[in-house]
Amino acid sequence: MDNLHPETLAIRIQSERTAAHEHSVPLYLTSSFVFDDAEAMRAAFADETDDNIYSRFSNPNVQEFVDKLCALEGTEAGFATASGMAAVTASFLALLKTGDHLLACSSIFGSTHTVITKYLTRYGISYSYADILRPETWESLIRPETKMIYVETPSNPALDLIDLEWLGDLAKRHSIILNVDNCFATPALQQPAKFGAHLVTHSATKFIDGQGRVLGGAVLGKKELIHEIYLFCRSTGPALAPFNAWVLSKSLETLSLRMERHSASALKLAEVLEGHSAITQIRYPFLASHPQYAIARKQMRAGGGVVSFELRGGLEQGRKFLNAIRMCSLTANLGDTRTIVSHPASTTHAKLSEADRLAVGITPGLIRISVGLEHIDDILADVQQALEKSR
Ligand SMILES: *Cc1c(COP(=O)(O)O)cnc(C)c1O
Repeated sequence: MDNLHPETLAIRIQSERTAAHEHSVPLYLTSSFVFDDAEAMRAAFADETDDNIYSRFSNPNVQEFVDKLCALEGTEAGFATASGMAAVTASFLALLKTGDHLLACSSIFGSTHTVITKYLTRYGISYSYADILRPETWESLIRPETKMIYVETPSNPALDLIDLEWLGDLAKRHSIILNVDNCFATPALQQPAKFGAHLVTHSATKFIDGQGRVLGGAVLGKKELIHEIYLFCRSTGPALAPFNAWVLSKSLETLSLRMERHSASALKLAEVLEGHSAITQIRYPFLASHPQYAIARKQMRAGGGVVSFELRGGLEQGRKFLNAIRMCSLTANLGDTRTIVSHPASTTHAKLSEADRLAVGITPGLIRISVGLEHIDDILADVQQALEKSR
């Protein structure tokens, strides 16, 4: 299957068929695997064969999911985990040690922020945040002990971007591991490894599942680094369940198709809402007015499924907007077939002070829309009528 396209591989890669000759892959719900004799079991434990031993280490459904994701990302190896946060945390704990320093971009996922600031620091791993909008300041934050750079692009929820080619070069010059959370774009739209990322980290819960059903995560990248992550996970146990892997592997078969539609509808929504009198600013990577439009066009195939905008007014208008929504869902997830609207300042981030919210790019009237796969006219109608009532 050497010269097939990644989209084809995401459909055609399959773990071995059983004697039943099934077309679709079966579900290997088994905690362990049997051996014919003592020698086969010895060899497996000695890593002389790649036979499955125990589902905390490996499982055919999990391996199939990882192989497909590697084909899509263009990476050598990977390891899948029970959630995106398990993947993020494993990538840190397997590769960083006391005394090391992590450089992260300032706008990152809330739980990742907690892991870095509350837990890594307990083990003597320090960090600095770099301003995603001021790349010229990044190099001065690199220290001799800086071991990893961790970024999200596009960022959540502000949809700011980082030039991955520039960042790949920076990491290379300083021999630092570059770890990119590719959750928002997915490999269907952006392949960070092509720009020099050593690791690509995913929450598969979002667009990869794409249907709001299961949690999952993965880290993909260079063989040696993934082997370290595998050894860490094999002992600490954040393994992805075979059932979730089976669901996620099926989801990858339609990822490219879904991301095309998510992106087309999100662009349409952004274009229609741009200039709306209830909105002061709208953000979408493939909207020509995005300050980093040129970077988006360079490193992304399409703009992705998330649009954000600032309501004229602020907190109160945000609450009114949510209450006026009829069809779209008010929920914490994103990347679903169903359009999801959120107002972080009054919900997910309400406990933070206004200053802390602003530091992570959450302004009082910020609305984030994860554009689903419903007919675009229905999405537009719901958002437009809610905008009228939010004034
Ligand atoms: C959701 C999310 C995560 C965490 O993933 P879970 O599967 O919820 O653990 C990490 N990074 C980003 C950008 C996310 O949106």
